[in-house]
Amino acid sequence: MYSKTNIHKVEFFRQIVEFASDSIVAIDTDLKIIFFNKEAEKTFGYSSDEILGKHLNTLIPSRFHESHNNYVTQFAKSGVIARLMNETANLEVMALRRDGSEFFVEISIIKIKEAFVSIVRDITNRKAFEEKLKFYAERDYLTGVMNRRKTEETGSKELERAKRFNNPFSILVLDIDHFKKINDSYGHDIGDLAIIHLTSVVQNVIRQIDSIGRWGGEEFVILLPEVDDQGISVVAEKIRSAVEQQPFITKTKKNVDFTISIGGSTYSKSNASWESILKNADLGLYKAKKNGRNRFCYYDS
Ligand code: GH3
Ligand code: MG
Ligand code: MG
Repeated sequence: MYSKTNIHKVEFFRQIVEFASDSIVAIDTDLKIIFFNKEAEKTFGYSSDEILGKHLNTLIPSRFHESHNNYVTQFAKSGVIARLMNETANLEVMALRRDGSEFFVEISIIKIKEAFVSIVRDITNRKAFEEKLKFYAERDYLTGVMNRRKTEETGSKELERAKRFNNPFSILVLDIDHFKKINDSYGHDIGDLAIIHLTSVVQNVIRQIDSIGRWGGEEFVILLPEVDDQGISVVAEKIRSAVEQQPFITKTKKNVDFTISIGGSTYSKSNASWESILKNADLGLYKAKKNGRNRFCYYDS
């Protein structure tokens, strides 16, 4: 193609590399930098003059130096010519700017005779977008607490951990009493705000390692790692009384007070699956409703 133009072949490729929109960094076998294109200058904050001859580690956060250098040595010995580092190393790859800030990168590495060429793509924006997607996929839209899927995933994980380390684990299921009346008396929007209020009251009562998820409507699941069949009623009572004592006050100073009923169950040998613990906690909730509401009932299978 270049033969049809009056551009020299070397000049043709030099310009492609120099002005590529990814950073292109070449190193020799001692891992000293021997080439740094324009985008690399912009991304890393070094001029070519400054960085040439410096060790590759200059561009890598120190905690990755050893693993990165091992990776390059291994790659050098392999018969492979080109490789996407993120896939084969199966890890997040990070780079270091001149100002000390770090950023996520995707690196393709190519062996050319005695040199290695890295094509470094800054994936900060993609990572941020992925994080955002993950956040919204796991959160309940109204309250911001875990959604049902995330609650189930976290609950199952906590249960596995409890089993492995022989630790206690309990869950609570709570539901607002006569919530239909709140919607009917004040409207659905105030009902929504009452649900948000409930989550903030609960979050202020539970510990950092506990978590709350919205199971549906005005029903929530609370995961209580390290809590046994004795502790569970203490936590449940704390939550129940906090909700009773802290009414939701609307912007127009209306007191929307409500109570909750709570069911609970604890992991044991005869109650060892997520499904059975949840089912038993639900039976506890049913009992609490039946026995007059605004109370906690433990269900032991
Ligand atoms: P109980 O004491 O037996 O729980 O009575 P309840 O009226 O609370 O009955 P139930 O729990 O079965 O009904 C929940 C109601 O909550 C039904 C539904 O209209 C309302 N609801 C569900 N989700 C939402 C929501 O996101 N916002 C609002 N405002 N209301 C909701
Ligand atoms: Mg209810
Ligand atoms: Mg309900």
